[in-house]
Amino acid sequence: MLEEIKGIGTKTISELNKLNINTIKDLLTYYPFRYNYFKPVNIKEINDDKEVVINGYIQSMPKVMYIKRNLNKLAFNLKTDNIIINVVIFNRAFLKNNLKINKLITIIGKYNKLKNTFTASDIKLNPIIEYKIEPIYHLTSNIKRQNFNKIIANTLKANINIPNYIPNDLISSYKFIDKKLALKYIHQPSSPNEIKQSKLMLTYEELFVYMLKLNFLKQKIQKQKLENIKLYDEKKLQEFINNLPYKLTEDQNIVLQEIINDFKSQKRMNRLILGDVGSGKTIMAFISLYINYLAGYQGVIMVPTEILAFQHFENFKTLFKKYNINVALLTSSTKIKERKEIIKEIKENKINIVISTHSVLNEEIIFNNLGLVITDEQHRFGVKQRKNLQEKGRDVDVIYMSATPIPRTLALTIYGDMDISFIKNKPQNNKKIITKLVSDSDIKEVLYDILEEIKKGHQIYVIVPLVNENEELDIEDIESIKKKFASAYNNKIPIGTIHGKIKTKEKEKIMNDFKNNIIKILISTTVIEVGIDVKNATTMVIFNAERFGLATLHQLRGRVGRSDLQSKCYLISNYEKERLKILEESNDGFYISEKDFQLRGTGDLFGVKQSGDMNFKIANLKNDYKILLQCQKDSENFLLNNIKNIKSFPNQEKILESIIFID
Ligand code: ADP
Ligand code: MG
Repeated sequence: MLEEIKGIGTKTISELNKLNINTIKDLLTYYPFRYNYFKPVNIKEINDDKEVVINGYIQSMPKVMYIKRNLNKLAFNLKTDNIIINVVIFNRAFLKNNLKINKLITIIGKYNKLKNTFTASDIKLNPIIEYKIEPIYHLTSNIKRQNFNKIIANTLKANINIPNYIPNDLISSYKFIDKKLALKYIHQPSSPNEIKQSKLMLTYEELFVYMLKLNFLKQKIQKQKLENIKLYDEKKLQEFINNLPYKLTEDQNIVLQEIINDFKSQKRMNRLILGDVGSGKTIMAFISLYINYLAGYQGVIMVPTEILAFQHFENFKTLFKKYNINVALLTSSTKIKERKEIIKEIKENKINIVISTHSVLNEEIIFNNLGLVITDEQHRFGVKQRKNLQEKGRDVDVIYMSATPIPRTLALTIYGDMDISFIKNKPQNNKKIITKLVSDSDIKEVLYDILEEIKKGHQIYVIVPLVNENEELDIEDIESIKKKFASAYNNKIPIGTIHGKIKTKEKEKIMNDFKNNIIKILISTTVIEVGIDVKNATTMVIFNAERFGLATLHQLRGRVGRSDLQSKCYLISNYEKERLKILEESNDGFYISEKDFQLRGTGDLFGVKQSGDMNFKIANLKNDYKILLQCQKDSENFLLNNIKNIKSFPNQEKILESIIFID
């Protein structure tokens, strides 16, 4: 418990909670994202305007000037190596009384030789004599750096039992340092080597645990046999496919065959469908649900957002209009009364197919005869959630779908517990999306083009990234962009906005109005990131595009280009043009992800909001890929050795499982 740590009160706890720090373990694994290295230099050696560290004695009483309401300036003289320099620092008026004449301090900042003025960005009252490494954490404004360092120091000092997850023989063969020491080194390093040693140990541990979970699941699944294989009327399936408004692509047909083979075998289906945005995964899901239904089972498809659930629900009803399938939509905003009724009918097997957000699939919902679970946008589900799904029922097959095009070899490792189907090509009639990088100052050109598109009856997405720590401010950003658009078009064009704070009902209405071409321009945060399908939307404008990884941008622009209409994507940005240009050149998600992998590591591979197990705290799949492969081997061997024991101790597997999935 966080309360146990010295110096943590309720106020601090609520601040820590905002950073997703809820336990001591969270706190200790809240690693610095970088370090500052400080080494004092001699003032006479400085000959450029790089940031430097200087020690010196205060020579004059500091003077404070209040310039504006939130701007003040502190100035004093400092003697360093027999030279007296002027030091200024902004917004540190509060330091005034600590700066006594003749006190030795360290200043950090830039020195202007001509003016003999040092503009400090920081002052250390405890001078850095020789050398210092300072950890830098992502913190909210309400939690000060010094304060956080103190909390970490107290936590490290407290005698807390910190479990280590690497088996002893591996620790000794790799000569890893002790876990406790590693945590100390990562937070309070006194040399680069300590950082290196601790990073190695902690990265290995993190990846080892991840691969151990995967391999454990894999072995468990391989042992499982379904009680019944799913028999269904193949003619009915063929009839449905023939009646689709389009022909399945070659890739879709291959994937369908893989799914059918799984259905027909006694092996439990555990398949991931990986396909770029717009490659047509949804229909694969619907066909699978139909097969499962024909075989006499209930099925469920889970999606990450309510908007998407609603859209799938509508699409499903349209496609299966003539069929007598009872389908229910269940999200957290389903009314209590209706929810009760749905849950009852699920239990009584009156509902055949459930479309829901994953948050509602809790223990309360008991299926009568569940045969298939599908999760869309799989990258949001962690290994533990995958395990929970497996345990939903005896005859349950599982399909995961993900639009995150990751390099194949990487996919085979990090999704090693699943069989993978790749959809490589998109339905052919979709034209290439023309992508253009535009500077802020050229926005007029974009506004003009939007108008042209709207005149043709088409629609526009505008994406505004979340840039503030405060949600209210983000909403302000969105509203101010809305105002700009509205005034640019003399308030004549219907514009809708969507963001995290809008209620579901309202969201559904806005999405519906957009679908029905009542709203022409939809301005939103990335909440529409996944899955939305409005064929008439031909143009996407993404503000501050540099804030996104390439894979995310590619996913976002996948919202357009969903019909025969020529679509366009404008990336508005003044920065990182080289990187963004890759999107101008290519429409191939796998190529782009490979490039992103090279340029930024995996930071972005898994979508805007990472979650589940891919949200590694210290490992980086690109830089640490070799370690990942090693962990794959090591964890497999570890399990093999332990499984020998499992045979003699039947309880061992449960114990092992409870240890592996402890969090
Ligand atoms: P995603 O893989 O991103 O989930 P969707 O399933 O939403 O993609 O499909 C994108 C669009 O392509 C949808 O409008 C869908 O109706 C259409 N589509 C799917 N398969 C085909 C096909 N074989 N031929 C033509 N259009 C298709
Ligand atoms: Mg989809």
